[in-house]
Amino acid sequence: MKINHWITGALFTGLVMSACQSPQEAQLPQEIKEGDSQEKEEFVWSPDRFADLKIVRYQVPSFEQLDLRQKKLVYYLSQAALSGRDIIWDQNYRHNLRVRRTLEGIVTGYKGNKESEDWNQFMVYTKRVWFSSGIHHHYSKMKFAPDFSKDFFKNAVLNTEGELPLLKGESKEVLATAIMDIIFDPNTDVKGVNLASNADIVLESANNYYGPNVTQAQAESFYGSMKKANGDVATPISYGLNSRLVEKNGKLSEEVWKLDGLYGDAIAQIIHWLDLAKGVAENEQQAKALGLLVDYYTSGDLKTWDDYNIAWVTDTLSDIDYINGFIEVYGDAKGYKASYESVVQIKDFDASAAMQVLSKNAQWFEDNSSIMEEHKKANVTGVSYKVIEAAMEAGDASPSTPIGVNLPNAEWIREHHGSKSVSLGNIVYAYSQAGGKGMLTEFCLNKAEVARSEKHSKRAAKLHTAMHEVIGHASGKINKGVGTPKESLGSYASALEEGRADLVALFYLMDQKLVDLGLMESLEIGKTEYDGYIRNGMLTQLQRIEPGENIEEAHMRNRQMIAKWVIEKGAEDKVVEKITKDGKSYYRINDYMKLKALFGELLMEIQRIKSEGDYEAGKNLIENYGVKVDVAMHKEVLSRVEKLNIAPYGGFINPKYQVSLDANGDITDVNIIYPDDFEAQMMEYAKDYSFLPHVN
Ligand code: ZN
Repeated sequence: MKINHWITGALFTGLVMSACQSPQEAQLPQEIKEGDSQEKEEFVWSPDRFADLKIVRYQVPSFEQLDLRQKKLVYYLSQAALSGRDIIWDQNYRHNLRVRRTLEGIVTGYKGNKESEDWNQFMVYTKRVWFSSGIHHHYSKMKFAPDFSKDFFKNAVLNTEGELPLLKGESKEVLATAIMDIIFDPNTDVKGVNLASNADIVLESANNYYGPNVTQAQAESFYGSMKKANGDVATPISYGLNSRLVEKNGKLSEEVWKLDGLYGDAIAQIIHWLDLAKGVAENEQQAKALGLLVDYYTSGDLKTWDDYNIAWVTDTLSDIDYINGFIEVYGDAKGYKASYESVVQIKDFDASAAMQVLSKNAQWFEDNSSIMEEHKKANVTGVSYKVIEAAMEAGDASPSTPIGVNLPNAEWIREHHGSKSVSLGNIVYAYSQAGGKGMLTEFCLNKAEVARSEKHSKRAAKLHTAMHEVIGHASGKINKGVGTPKESLGSYASALEEGRADLVALFYLMDQKLVDLGLMESLEIGKTEYDGYIRNGMLTQLQRIEPGENIEEAHMRNRQMIAKWVIEKGAEDKVVEKITKDGKSYYRINDYMKLKALFGELLMEIQRIKSEGDYEAGKNLIENYGVKVDVAMHKEVLSRVEKLNIAPYGGFINPKYQVSLDANGDITDVNIIYPDDFEAQMMEYAKDYSFLPHVN
């Protein structure tokens, strides 16, 4: 499954987003080498913006730490990833590839006026299609309409020299009409995925996972009887995962996505690169998994897919990992069919090192915590947590991407062989930078706070998350006879648990111990995090709430709860003060050490609630501090954010890997570069990775 919490905005410059067992909302920015600040300033995180979208770039600092063999592995896996790119287009909608190639033909070959408003709108539409891998919105799944005229479009096709996806004997005029019918008609194929309860969710979804006339009932009966024939087994096959279900002469059959089947031309390329990757694998287990993946792409056998997943999940030692295949089933309303995707991953060496230090010292943190002695663990072990850097994304994971992934999806494999859960640290960080300085400048009290955040927030957020995960969730014990937190604390359990983990991190972020351990250079980092935490809990996170709604999400509840509680308890000493300036609200921390003590106090109380299973006290904390939204403040925040004009959705330009070859054609070096032009990357991909016919 993918974790996608930030779809509605990436707005969190300088805020803490912490993750949990599942890597929700993780913010583990990678550290760029200290002293790199000049270079960092020149890096434009978000070079393009159109419609409701912004284009973001991400960096892969860990790539530089790889040896040549590993760099080759990244390169081969990236090529494999991109080779399947056309597949997702065809999966999303049967006309997508033809539409895209028509648009791309016009982009390169149009001989008319490129200064007109129609042309500008044409480019916006084309970029939206690229972004969504098709003509349906990547998130809402609704067909979006072009803002140029039909006349313009027809003339553009006629005025285009060079390659257009003409079918045999087709004229440009006929092509233009066909494409206009597809993209302008508001009544046909409106929804890519239709989940409406009164709809035939197979027939009325425009995606291409089923032939044109296949109904929901047919699909259910087809796969129902397949499952039944196989009996009730402990290792059920994911029937339907890698095929299109079609009806021919009244009979249903599957067109399997494999080497000599549907999408075979793209799959052949994927196999070619996976074979090369296997040759430079980091260890035997990884090579074995890659071999099985090639076998699966060759045969289309779903039993082999399971074998592959078991081999893949067992490979836990490699620095480089990858997702490649037909993975997630969100694109099929019935959830049988999986979309093609690939993510190439490099271990975040810096985050991993910090976590190791914390893990090694977990007992010290437990012993010195503010919680009551009787709730401390005598032998505490750090929770392991994995942060990676995405090195390439393709298919359903690009340009729009998840920020965390937990695989494999087959429940029985997860149960018996485990699963891998990763947070895409560099993607999360790139999101946080993409909004630019706007959010910081708007919500920080003064320039000093902005400057401190710019200097330290990356490290601060990274440390916060590491502590939240590794020592926060690991800390404390439950009294004998008290059930699990879910049993004793009910629906408040997760917000309380997230609050507890946050508080462990906050309590120590102003502790000299972290400086002594070499995890932070000074307490300035702690101050940065305290500023950001209060700012987020009281102000900025409110932008994610619809007017009139209360706070539902566990992390958001805990953040407001903590911020409000410490402000209230420290009110007499003015530990944190609300400031109003030019009609706008800000928060100023007057005493960081007193705030640390308050965090410690609340930590002790929440640990007590968990240890004793004190439902009433837990409920009161969350309900009184975490749930209700201050209506006036909410309104203020929404209007301040609206003025910043931040695009709700972000998608990414991939880095590019350039190889140097010797006289024998062997790779002697692989370099990473960071392109900054979305259009150029899309046109390059069209040129280099168009392996499928216009119509499949
Ligand atoms: Zn958590």
